[in-house]
Amino acid sequence: MIGVKKYFYLVAVKWYQLPNIVSISGITNNMEELINSQRVFFNTNITFDPGYRIDQLHKLENALQKNETLLYEALYADVKKSPYETYISELRHIYKEIREVCSNLKKWTRARRAKTDLMNFPARSYIVPVPLGCVLIIGSWNFPYQLSLIPVIAALAAGNTVILKPSELPAKSSHTLADIINSNFDPALFRVVEGGVSETTELLKHKFDKIFFTGSNRVGKIVYEAAARNLTPVTLELGGKNPVIFTEKCNLKNGVKRLVWAKFLNAGQSCVSPDYVLVNRSVKEEFLSQAKAEIQKSHYAIDNHNFMLTVNTDHAKRLIGYLSEGKIFYGGHHELKNRYIEPTILTEVKFDDRVMQEEIFGPILPVVEFSDLDEVIAILKERPAPVACYIYSSDRKKIRRIIQEVPFGGGAVNDSVMHFINPNLPFGGVRESGTGSYHGEAGFRNFTHYKSILDKPTWFEPNLKYYPHTKLKQKLIKLIAG
Ligand code: NAD
Repeated sequence: MIGVKKYFYLVAVKWYQLPNIVSISGITNNMEELINSQRVFFNTNITFDPGYRIDQLHKLENALQKNETLLYEALYADVKKSPYETYISELRHIYKEIREVCSNLKKWTRARRAKTDLMNFPARSYIVPVPLGCVLIIGSWNFPYQLSLIPVIAALAAGNTVILKPSELPAKSSHTLADIINSNFDPALFRVVEGGVSETTELLKHKFDKIFFTGSNRVGKIVYEAAARNLTPVTLELGGKNPVIFTEKCNLKNGVKRLVWAKFLNAGQSCVSPDYVLVNRSVKEEFLSQAKAEIQKSHYAIDNHNFMLTVNTDHAKRLIGYLSEGKIFYGGHHELKNRYIEPTILTEVKFDDRVMQEEIFGPILPVVEFSDLDEVIAILKERPAPVACYIYSSDRKKIRRIIQEVPFGGGAVNDSVMHFINPNLPFGGVRESGTGSYHGEAGFRNFTHYKSILDKPTWFEPNLKYYPHTKLKQKLIKLIAG
């Protein structure tokens, strides 16, 4: 906590330096003014205090908790996602992340000692974590609360000011989030700016100290290019086709149960969703019959609170188009006008079909058989690197090979999706699926600059590096410092 004196000093500084902030809530559509107000606020150093950061994170938690019903209603109105699923796949992660961050923040914000090399003796070396400044976070629609707020938690925890641009697609969820945040936070610290392509394009014209983007590879390139114009560092959390591999030796019953849950969570609209299955020929038939039984047992339906709609008609059309690219082994029922697609298993697909080229992002699961793991690894090495890969196997040698040789962001063995919720595992893609990672300490580090400091006393000044450069000095340098 900051002392009383410092508190009054900071309030006075803020009052003196920020005449705009009092009026900014009315004019936040002016992005330039909003960004300037955040810069001025950042420069007061108020956010450098870990106690202040923790207070803001608790404020966020309280604001969300007080408005949980509104958040549930909005997401249900947008895509018929049930309160139960909204809690387990959105709000719970946000609350857990806040608690994880708050209980570790003091440790993460401390300067860390580093060793000093002999040429610099005597001196102390240390690394000081400092915030980056004013950051822009652009969210995706598929988990509109947590994919927006978990990076925000990391950015605030690291002492930055934040502008959040959630996705416009789930419109009610976006408005509700904006209302809750904007009525609880000083816009000079944290502001939600709503909008679509034109608002994001406008935001991207400005200079930020970091841009964190979650979304498609196509828009990721636009963001990367815009950031490069200002040399702004970026984190890109993108998509890809996440393969699932079932080897001949595996616990098929358990594996299929976990896979089916993970695939149809959020109706398959998740960046870590299993995209397609590569199953060893010897267990393919058994896999298919168990997958069918598991889907039937799950009773997927909006009314059962375990299934939801496709986000809009364009995406529903795209998904329905995939259904004719293979043989429908199970499911296939769809209603375009209601944006509904039944959980579906497709067989007899080819790698050059669209359904095997594009990220599916919906409740359709193609299944391809293989007989030789070497072949599978060779194919996966050639494909764009996905954000996740899942291996169902009890053969440790094969598991190790896949983890080492196949390029992907992260994943799970004998499970799918669940690695995403472990705050101790940094989450992020690689190559085409993104750059940078977050969650837990990785998120804090993502929004932090680590200043390396060499701190020298003045009472001793060895003469070795100064002129004249004698042979003796050279020998001594070699002897002492290599
Ligand atoms: P998207 O790229 O269409 O939209 C993401 C954001 O970019 C939205 O806020 C949108 O308003 C903005 N945007 C859209 N077009 C833009 C443009 N031309 N210029 C500037 N901004 C623009 O992505 P989406 O449809 O919201 O999400 C689906 C994709 O996101 C999938 O590929 C999925 O895998 C990926 N995703 C990745 C992660 C991850 O953590 N790696 C998480 C969720 C989704």
